Amino acid sequence: MPDTIYDVAIIGAGPAGYTAAIRGGQLGLKVALIDSSDKLGGTCLKVGCIPTKALLFHAEVWDHLKHAADYGIDNVTEPKLNWTQALKRKDAIVAKHIKGLDFLMRKNKVTVIEGYGRLTGPAKDGIHTVSVFTEGGGGAAGETTLLQAKHILIATGSGAKMLPGLEPDTRILTNIEILSMPEAPKSLIVIGAGAVGVEFASIFRSFGVEVAILEFLPRLMPLEDEEISKELTRQFKKRGIDINTSAKVEKVERTETGVKVSYTDQNGKAQAKEADKVLVAVGRYPRTDNIDIDKTRIKLDRGFIHVSESMETEEPGIYAIGDIVAGLPLLAHSGGMAGIVAVTKIAGRAFRPINRLRIPACTYCEPQIGSVGLTEAAAREKGLEIKIGKFPFGGNSKATIVDSHDGFVKIVADQKYGEILGVHIIGPQATELISEAVVAMDLEGTIDELMFSIHAHPTLSEAMLDAYGAVEGMAINA
Ligand SMILES: Cc1cc2nc3c(=O)[nH]c(=O)nc-3n(C[C@H](O)[C@H](O)[C@H](O)COP(=O)(O)OP(=O)(O)OC[C@H]3O[C@@H](n4cnc5c(N)ncnc54)[C@H](O)[C@@H]3O)c2cc1C
Repeated sequence: MPDTIYDVAIIGAGPAGYTAAIRGGQLGLKVALIDSSDKLGGTCLKVGCIPTKALLFHAEVWDHLKHAADYGIDNVTEPKLNWTQALKRKDAIVAKHIKGLDFLMRKNKVTVIEGYGRLTGPAKDGIHTVSVFTEGGGGAAGETTLLQAKHILIATGSGAKMLPGLEPDTRILTNIEILSMPEAPKSLIVIGAGAVGVEFASIFRSFGVEVAILEFLPRLMPLEDEEISKELTRQFKKRGIDINTSAKVEKVERTETGVKVSYTDQNGKAQAKEADKVLVAVGRYPRTDNIDIDKTRIKLDRGFIHVSESMETEEPGIYAIGDIVAGLPLLAHSGGMAGIVAVTKIAGRAFRPINRLRIPACTYCEPQIGSVGLTEAAAREKGLEIKIGKFPFGGNSKATIVDSHDGFVKIVADQKYGEILGVHIIGPQATELISEAVVAMDLEGTIDELMFSIHAHPTLSEAMLDAYGAVEGMAINA
């Protein structure tokens, strides 16, 4: 057994794990960060948030170029996709930020260990042991070492769910394969219209690919406010995306040149679509099945781990953060904050538990979506007395300037006191605008107060001010 006893051993170096490691270091804790990959950053940095947002930015530039002549920029001839270059820039962004993480680990004196971590059971005399398997190189057998720590943070993240009987390959893709295809497809079927599905649909449609979406539930982005789904559907249709909701996929087959997806449509009729590739974006599963959870008292809920408000599991001294946590959305920023909460508690400092209703959800498709708190339907289901304000970007001058005046800001507020209960934005920079709503809600802001908070002109954020006003029927620009 080695001599070093860490304050915290973190298994998994995605945004939950690396954020916890950095804050742990800042709080003076001795931290070990274990990851089975030789590159830090997890799903988010390598095959999730960052690469997709890089491609979405490329797609946005492409969309603007389509209107170059309107903007007084002549001689922009037919744009042509250079997919290899698009991937190259995306990869360079990812590589830069992996290096950034390496630097931050050194800066915060975090010991990084490459290997596969497993639990070994409860603590003995207050000390936990993690077994770490490191693969041997060049055909060597590999070795298992034991690492000791006063606390463990499990941050093993999630993987893409597949449809039963399917394995990803060069035509049947998950978020991993689609981000490194040697060539862009001419046609793409996307199964699943959550954030991952609609973002990829948006990217490839901008690049001129024929895109069809098949979604099992009756609407796109089913967790968002219904009006958001409706507006997204309207705008996606306008962009030429073939949308099929209430569609139950029955079979995915490889054809001679591509794929064929058979499904039952909303009228119960058998249908089929063919394309070069299919993206399966039907959700994520928690990576908790191969880390010897059963040697502990940790409770699982369909594979996700139960935690207290300090992120501690039922096994004292073992915490869980990130995508594996039951009841938290699978988002990088909630995982990162969960990590901060856990190490702050471990360091004996005061912390603020995560409030599920204050976590923004952002989808970076075109049009963007940003939301936080209760949807109108959820507020009504809870029996709350509410009032609604809605302001269309059509009345916002900056939206017209940036040539993106579809969409709206919708506010769900408490009827009596005007406290903001939910904000739902679809339109330009919705993913940036939503932060104002999060802070306003965190500070329990009311409509009366926010109607007097000055927003610069001309900005997209003025649409927020107008939406607060709209709750009282007094938007200035509508
Ligand atoms: C295509 C796509 C786009 C996304 N876009 C966004 C976005 O824009 N914004 C957003 O907030 N979220 C986004 N997400 C979600 C986001 O990526 C996840 O919520 C986030 O990565 C979860 O962080 P995590 O640290 O819990 O786990 P992960 O990021 O999954 O990291 C887990 C790490 O643990 C390691 N690991 C697993 N098991 C072990 C083990 N036993 N031992 C050692 N190491 C192990 C893995 O190698 C990995 O590095 C996106 C996801 C996808 C798929």
